[in-house]
Amino acid sequence: MKIPRSGNTVFLAALACAAVLFPCGRLSAEGAKDDARKNPAPSTTQKEALPISIPQTIRPGDCLVVTFGPADGIADAIVEVRTGDGRILADVPGFDVGGGRYVALVGISSLEKPGALVVDASARYGDSKSVARIVADLAVLPREFANEDIPLDGKNTAIRKDVSKKRLEEIRVLNELFAARRAEAPRFAGPWAAPVKSTRRTSEYGDRRTFVNADGTRLPSPHLGIDYGVPTGTAVFASGNGVVVMARERISTGWTVAIEHLPGVYSVYYHCDKLFVSEGDEVASGQHIANSGCTGLSTGPHLHHEYRVGSVPVSPDWFYGRILF
Ligand SMILES: [Zn+2]
Repeated sequence: MKIPRSGNTVFLAALACAAVLFPCGRLSAEGAKDDARKNPAPSTTQKEALPISIPQTIRPGDCLVVTFGPADGIADAIVEVRTGDGRILADVPGFDVGGGRYVALVGISSLEKPGALVVDASARYGDSKSVARIVADLAVLPREFANEDIPLDGKNTAIRKDVSKKRLEEIRVLNELFAARRAEAPRFAGPWAAPVKSTRRTSEYGDRRTFVNADGTRLPSPHLGIDYGVPTGTAVFASGNGVVVMARERISTGWTVAIEHLPGVYSVYYHCDKLFVSEGDEVASGQHIANSGCTGLSTGPHLHHEYRVGSVPVSPDWFYGRILF
């Protein structure tokens, strides 16, 4: 059976394709998903189809955007991404963006290999809590990344090798923050903006970096963001509306700002010289939040700018100028 496609949008047509629409007695999203997967029986009740939009291609470092609706009464939505051999890459809940729509965002790592993925999207909606589900192929296209050796002096080598309680705790806290998908998070769709006026870049997202320690040992470390080569004191602007969830000094990243824009979506700003925001502040897109610097593990003045989607570092260039929904 073929799933009808219209451009990049897949419309779920009940009774007409492998995807199904049927009443569901279970209330949890997990239950709905399981029911949808185990009991692919078509509905006997005719309802309007719930549009589910899934792109057909993606590149490593992009963000997969799956949209549900508009439709009356979407109760929840979930997207699972699997490899061809069944490995689950992501299992991500959608969130309400108003207007009868839900959106689920899945960060695709820069390390993802070209090939075929499977996107399994389902939502519960309607008076009878019907389940709409669609399973679609997603082609991961090839993408080239540059290789780069970064020699570290004694000070930076010491930071990299620092396994002090303080540094490990800082890493744990930041990872926990990036993993959070707060339902009450802001809803900023875009357009997303670059954080500095300068376009001078000293390192790109996804660069296959190798840190060369002062003792000659080598440690591969893909670059998780963009480095802007700007002098200390350069104004740094918020990439979008959001809430400051981190504004503090860290051993590795120096003076650091992290902004929550959506459930599970964060922009981050590292190695700053001065911060002008505090944790808990609401910020607007383009607001002057910090001055760049050279604090933490840094081989020269620059701003490291990074986006996280469900903990996965995603290309800032994918975000710039985009309106997500
Ligand atoms: Zn960087």
